[in-house]
Amino acid sequence: MVYKTDYHMHSSFSDGRSAPEDYIVPAVAAGLSEIGFSEHLTLFKDPEDWNMNPVNLIPYINCIESLRDKSKKIKIKTGLEVDFFIGKEEEIGNYLSPLPLDYVIGSVHYLGEKTVDVGPEFYEGKSIDRLYESYLDSVSAAAASGLFDIIGHCDLIRIFGYRPVSDQEPYYRKLAKTMKAHNVAFEVNTNGRNRPLADFYPDRKFLHIFREENVPVCVNSDAHMPSRVGQYFDEAYELLRYVGFTEMAVFDKRVRRLVPF
Ligand SMILES: [Zn+2]
Ligand SMILES: [Zn+2]
Repeated sequence: MVYKTDYHMHSSFSDGRSAPEDYIVPAVAAGLSEIGFSEHLTLFKDPEDWNMNPVNLIPYINCIESLRDKSKKIKIKTGLEVDFFIGKEEEIGNYLSPLPLDYVIGSVHYLGEKTVDVGPEFYEGKSIDRLYESYLDSVSAAAASGLFDIIGHCDLIRIFGYRPVSDQEPYYRKLAKTMKAHNVAFEVNTNGRNRPLADFYPDRKFLHIFREENVPVCVNSDAHMPSRVGQYFDEAYELLRYVGFTEMAVFDKRVRRLVPF
């Protein structure tokens, strides 16, 4: 049996629809060996309805740890999906370092004051080429920060299907090299299939770059409801095999190991 993990899931502690325990039965049914929760944590901004209020951080960690201790059929890990902001590396690091986490996903949602997934209106009247460039630059900075174990949806800027004119390959190459140099994994995020883009992140035509640069990989659903745990994983694993990947990154107490699949 292929050792499958899903480290990117949101429960009602942030913007997911259900309590953490509701994700376990669907995860076992999907044939997963491990799952991990990764609630949104956005420092330096007022809490909104999509991210976890930091006052709930310790109750969240306690909740996942008690599920982990009770769970017999599947391993349960504690993670966070943390927003990256250039120039705030030290504060983010100081905030995260005492927390008993298995991994941290670093994601870029904000470009300026707005998030790139807020709606198609974010893109209207702007240079798509420039947006891609600044998004991928920001993700490269997140990878170089040393703060994260996994980079979330590394080209979320594709979400509404706006495409740049210029060749993006050099940006993806730089990003992959940065990830490798700073020892951070990327994810194939299957939730893009549920968005207007209707495909995974990252762009499958650049996946070979991550393989060539030998960047560790995870497959994650970014599920916001139990029915989407492990969604489209067979296809994602097949795609990775096709590109030449043979191992997955597995995390425990922020230590990574690779398991064959
Ligand atoms: Zn995200
Ligand atoms: Zn997420």
